[in-house]
Amino acid sequence: MRVLDDYTCRLCGKREERLARIGDAVYCTACGARCNRDRAVPNFQLETISGDFPTATRRWEQDYARRAAKAREHDE
Ligand SMILES: [Zn+2]
Repeated sequence: MRVLDDYTCRLCGKREERLARIGDAVYCTACGARCNRDRAVPNFQLETISGDFPTATRRWEQDYARRAAKAREHDE
């Protein structure tokens, strides 16, 4: 079964929605590096879009940047 999920590139940090089997390797369309599957956080994106939680949004962005940097380190 293939599921639509968010993936983050380990190299360039590009985030994209991809349809893939759980456990299958997904590769970045921008640089071709291996992507990590993001943990699903239901309803979180709705809050982000509404703008009612700017602090949470900023915290998410910082956390995302940190995870992207960590993933890059991990790849080397
Ligand atoms: Zn990439």
